[in-house]
Amino acid sequence: SFLPIKCSAGVVEKEIQDGTIRTITPGLPNIDPELLERLVHDALVWSSLHGLIVGDKRIQRSGSVPGVGMVHAPFALLPTMSFSESHWRQACELATIFNELVDRVSMDGKFLQESLSGTKKVDPFTSRLLDIHSRMQQMNKKEEVRMGLLRSDYMLDAKTNLLLQVELNTISCSFYGLSCLVGGLHRHLLNRYGEHLGLDSERVLGNNTINQYADALAKAWNEYNNPRAIVLIVGQAHERNMYDQYWLMNTLKERHDLTVIRKTMAQIDAESELRPDGTLVVEGQEVAVIYFRAGYTPKDYPSESEWRAKLLMEQSSAIKCPSVSYHLVGTKKIQQELAKPNVLERFLDNTDDITKVRKCFAGLWSLDDPSVVKNAIRNPKSFVLKPQREGGGNNIYGEDVRDALLKLDKKGSEELTSYILMQRIFPTASPAFLVLDGICHQEHAISEFGIYSAYLRNKEKVILNDDCGYLIKTKAQSSDEGGIVAGYAVSDSVYI
Ligand code: ADP
Ligand code: MG
Ligand code: MG
Repeated sequence: SFLPIKCSAGVVEKEIQDGTIRTITPGLPNIDPELLERLVHDALVWSSLHGLIVGDKRIQRSGSVPGVGMVHAPFALLPTMSFSESHWRQACELATIFNELVDRVSMDGKFLQESLSGTKKVDPFTSRLLDIHSRMQQMNKKEEVRMGLLRSDYMLDAKTNLLLQVELNTISCSFYGLSCLVGGLHRHLLNRYGEHLGLDSERVLGNNTINQYADALAKAWNEYNNPRAIVLIVGQAHERNMYDQYWLMNTLKERHDLTVIRKTMAQIDAESELRPDGTLVVEGQEVAVIYFRAGYTPKDYPSESEWRAKLLMEQSSAIKCPSVSYHLVGTKKIQQELAKPNVLERFLDNTDDITKVRKCFAGLWSLDDPSVVKNAIRNPKSFVLKPQREGGGNNIYGEDVRDALLKLDKKGSEELTSYILMQRIFPTASPAFLVLDGICHQEHAISEFGIYSAYLRNKEKVILNDDCGYLIKTKAQSSDEGGIVAGYAVSDSVYI
């Protein structure tokens, strides 16, 4: 269904089926194939020169050695998504409410443990996180300075025109670096070719997430109040999306002159020390802020060493972004529990805020209701089945939902408690050019968009509660999943 245009070694080979390429966004004239070639070529050059890059999976060391085996990050050639001002405002407004909500829920240890008690029985990964959480409860550990760098993801439901939340991420939200760059790419292309395309570069919405996130981490560092302390980034040993992280690390160093080090969990286990007073010391330096870009998937814990590191960090007095409580609030199960009647009311006081949050909830169900399961078996295409996982590639869609539910039903109901069922959201598709690995594909594409946000408080004082820019992930309508590094989706910008 797509028209690949291969761009290799500066030579563009065309494989255009009937000689024409149809419109990409409504109102956009047919693109002349030669113009398209030039756009793709310029975009690939710009990406390479500006660090819109990821590690190339074909090259083994690309995930561990910076500067080795780089390929441009997948991007949309032109902005695919155009927004109504009101949806945009709605999403930004929700960001600060979700910040508060996450903080409130994180303080209710009993709610977290009870909501996840079924998951605990069948999912060893979540179970271990819950163990760490209950140990902290037993120790009566107080997190006085609490920080969240979150991203709430949405899709616009075509039928109802409602902005519906896909999920709320509380750990390792990524792509802020790439997302800030892709807007720059689009502006660059439209400056040169906008007139031919009928698009105005000024209308590409700017994005400042990197600076805002760096500023937020610096503010947290400041609350720790030790000028010699450092920021610790917890990373994966192999991370093809490392440049995204290096953008943030570099910005932290340059804008705030902070010492930032990156360690894997295994390294932290081997090289760090927890002093009796709670001070965490790595390489002889006191840690003020721990920023997690690892630890959100079972794959990050290949041995006991990583679990020891997670516990050690949690016990420390460093500011954790996120703490294990914040981490657990971001689980799919908690998302579903919050959508139950009268649960938001336990955490938010303002009734307007409750109404706003509830309005963006899609249908969410636990699988302990047989009538819900029966309905999903009958209409599997209307649902997504989600296990308790993060990082893309885990959900079940379409006919597989039926098969999985029938299988899970047989295994017994306990297995079902680790999954949630969600209404499938169907956004409007529009034609788009997706550039992956130097090849331009024309696709009917749909977009998901996330609003980043930052929250920081010290006891009763809220120091920061802001929305922090956006991420647009665009993918072929035919693709169920949406990860960028996984190769399902491309990063994109907003055209207002
Ligand atoms: P993860 O934490 O793994 O990113 P998500 O809930 O974001 O989990 O699901 C991954 C992808 O699956 C999303 O980016 C989106 O493309 C798709 N998806 C998830 N939930 C829905 C839904 N309710 N309707 C349509 N697509 C969905
Ligand atoms: Mg997620
Ligand atoms: Mg997601």
